[in-house]
Amino acid sequence: MTTLQKVRQRAESDARSRGYYLNPDLQFLENLLEGLKQNEERYDYPSCPCRISSGTFEVDRDIICPCDYRDADVEEYGYCYCALYVRKDVSEGKTPIRPIPERRPREKQERAYAVSAETSTEKLAERTAAFVDKPSEAKMKMWYCKQCGYVCFREEPPYICPICKAKREMFDEIRLKADTRDVA
Ligand code: SF4
Repeated sequence: MTTLQKVRQRAESDARSRGYYLNPDLQFLENLLEGLKQNEERYDYPSCPCRISSGTFEVDRDIICPCDYRDADVEEYGYCYCALYVRKDVSEGKTPIRPIPERRPREKQERAYAVSAETSTEKLAERTAAFVDKPSEAKMKMWYCKQCGYVCFREEPPYICPICKAKREMFDEIRLKADTRDVA
């Protein structure tokens, strides 16, 4: 079982080795670390908490934290895509953190979406059936981000929205109607 402490220590040690800092907003940092922990438990590797993971190692290899794009983003903007790793000036509040462009190549993003969608569609069909037949056994839920509209299907809402980076509190559940199956 991965512990939050272990994830934090790994990030701190990695930041030190590169001369970086971790995000100074402690609550935001906690959310990112929790997202990494959850991804590591789910996929066996700590994929990026603000991107969509496919769940297939070969497809996600470039977004295993620290991702292949971190150093270029820290150099150009002062922080990585998730703003987990930041430069000194950012850590000291001298440079604000704003959304930055996605550096991951589009074809890799599309591949991850495609693999993730295949898995999600199968799970959606299974779980929707479970929800209709045995509501108590259905754990997967539809969630949407109230800030950007991103929709996902999982047991809990993500810690950080992969699209707009809103916090978990910005997610609401989309309720499935158990009685729609039999409607003619
Ligand atoms: S963007 Fe930051 S948090 Fe996400 S994988 Fe890259 S280094 Fe880690």
